Amino acid sequence: MKIFKCLECANDIELEDKKYKIGEIIECPFCGSELEVVEVKADGSLVLDIIEEEK
Ligand SMILES: [Zn+2]
Repeated sequence: MKIFKCLECANDIELEDKKYKIGEIIECPFCGSELEVVEVKADGSLVLDIIEEEK
């Protein structure tokens, strides 16, 4: 099980046990922020970037 710390609310998000692709969106279940996969490293860890919502 991979855990990623939300960039917005710092809660631990459990990632699904699957291969993520660049451009996939992960929604934080705690704060609702949308995080985009911007990089998948060789060891399978993800680099996520928060998607700023237009207001
Ligand atoms: Zn969050």
